[in-house]
Amino acid sequence: MQITTTGLVLREIKTGEADRILTVFTQDYGVITAIAKGSMRMKNKLFHATSLFCYSEFILYEGKSMYTVNEASVKEVFFGLRNRVEAVALAMYLAELTSTVSLERTDAKAQLKLLLNAFYFISENKRPLQYIKAVYELRTLSETGYMPDLVACKDCAQYEGGKFYFDLLEGYLLCQSCAIKRGKEPNLDPAALAAMRHIIFVEPAKLYAFTLPNLALMNLYLIVDGYTLNQIDKPLKTRDFLLSVLPNLINEETT
Ligand SMILES: [Zn+2]
Repeated sequence: MQITTTGLVLREIKTGEADRILTVFTQDYGVITAIAKGSMRMKNKLFHATSLFCYSEFILYEGKSMYTVNEASVKEVFFGLRNRVEAVALAMYLAELTSTVSLERTDAKAQLKLLLNAFYFISENKRPLQYIKAVYELRTLSETGYMPDLVACKDCAQYEGGKFYFDLLEGYLLCQSCAIKRGKEPNLDPAALAAMRHIIFVEPAKLYAFTLPNLALMNLYLIVDGYTLNQIDKPLKTRDFLLSVLPNLINEETT
């Protein structure tokens, strides 16, 4: 059977003489595996459209174990992803996170949009990479069944005021006084909490429409990183490399 769909190439493995086996996040079929024969040759018609992080329209043949790419045409190339190692590292990490959590998704279209949006912000260098990582992780987890309960303090229903404790394992909040009663150290700044609520509840188009001072951003980054690590089954393979190349947030200019 032949199908047509658009998708983002999340991963490529070279095989044979000039073939690529692709992991493609498609809007209609979720994450699929497809072979693009001969696509490593620069003159091959599939060369560009089946490259890593290319967003393309695909015509695919459904085979027994995987799809075969018949035709592909480029819709969008994230050129800004290719020049900076830390940008590539984050894109690879987000791609792996997506393949990890999206397997049971039904609404691949919304998730694909979210990822394309993140790639756009990475590529255009419009936000610190830590910001993009935290936004994408928290929104993705929230939409795939791991939404933390950020409404109010679990014990007394206080909504805001001072630092809160956020439980990285179970994803609940405690206000400062309830945290102290339970022997927990408040770990979440008010600005980072407001940002987390924004990321979870805002309409997709406004996801990146907030700013944070760098210290609060660092707090957001660390909290969401810890929460993500605890929610997924095993650490992502791309994480260590990403952490080794991320620039120091505190020395960066605020956007
Ligand atoms: Zn409380």
